[in-house]
Amino acid sequence: MKTTPLKPGSTIGIFGGGQLGRMLAQAADKLGYKAHIFDVFADTPAGRVSEARTAAPYDDLNAIREFSQSCNVITYEFENIPAAAIHEANLHAPVFPSAKALETSHDRLVEKIFLSDVANAPVVDFFKVETMENLANALDDFSGPCVLKTRRFGYDGKGQVKINSPKEIRSGFARLGGADLIAEKFAPFVREFSIIAARGQDGDIACYPLTENIHKDHRLHTSYAPADDPQNISGKAHNITNRILNALEYVGVMGVEFFEMENGELIVNEIAPRVHNSGHWTQDAGCCDQFEQHIRAVTGLPLGNTKPNHTILMTNLIGDEIKHIDDLAKQPNTFVHNYDKRDIRLGRKMGHVNVIVS
Ligand code: AMP
Repeated sequence: MKTTPLKPGSTIGIFGGGQLGRMLAQAADKLGYKAHIFDVFADTPAGRVSEARTAAPYDDLNAIREFSQSCNVITYEFENIPAAAIHEANLHAPVFPSAKALETSHDRLVEKIFLSDVANAPVVDFFKVETMENLANALDDFSGPCVLKTRRFGYDGKGQVKINSPKEIRSGFARLGGADLIAEKFAPFVREFSIIAARGQDGDIACYPLTENIHKDHRLHTSYAPADDPQNISGKAHNITNRILNALEYVGVMGVEFFEMENGELIVNEIAPRVHNSGHWTQDAGCCDQFEQHIRAVTGLPLGNTKPNHTILMTNLIGDEIKHIDDLAKQPNTFVHNYDKRDIRLGRKMGHVNVIVS
């Protein structure tokens, strides 16, 4: 299907004013589009580099209507936006990725069922947990440890706890509030990696190469791409990603997080219907970066080149680490990215640095 791209000067609405929204707005500007940021706060990293801002809560449907009427297309930078907000926005301008993609990723149980039953993607064994008895049955079935997670609003390892034995059922269950939980079989992976991929309005798909991810304190610390591929899993990971994107008739960039097992088996951990922290390396790799790629997809432009000219190591700058940005900028082959967040807080993502390794 041939699509007519949005004309330069058109306005892209972005829900969320954080760093991802900021880098999307900068990419929109590069392609001649305007960005209008919707956020609870008026002064945001994304808002500061955009043409327009709306500050209102996500349940203010009047504000969402007005915002949407000023936009030619709408997207979002994080997935915890209420579905009602997206449905209201969609009445006035097309929203990409669709409400279906957003709603699928809202709930870990819905997401796992979609991945396994609709997209035919490999996932760990899982159980819906509403009672301690459900959890005991899950542990029994797995005959090994499990990871108990809240179904909604979990990120960066928040809202999850490992249950090693029946002794830990009561405390684990209580710690997560004892409702709307999912128990996943613990996957003894050898490596975590992600595939960043885009699907255009015409159904074209472009995947970036394998990105290896290292976490620290449950938060992404470094990403390395293109990653080594001793088990030759790249083709398989790309096929799984294609199936997920097509099953959702997805438009935009998605991050698909995988576990690689010792025998080369792959497991999809989760999907993020947006640009992804593990795709930041694309900004300095000599290919079309993930932010431009997303803007291309949602505006109907053809997708860009996903083949990097360099191998890059991306490191997040968390909290105080942003204070070292001057020193980092002195290093050879090093590109610093500062999100211009006004308060430095423990654990807060403040920027990132990309180093060209080769
Ligand atoms: P998530 O919030 O689902 O992305 O999980 C955060 C991190 O917890 C992952 O990046 C893994 O390191 C770990 N993790 C999550 N689920 C599992 C699992 N089923 N088995 C082993 N480790 C897991």
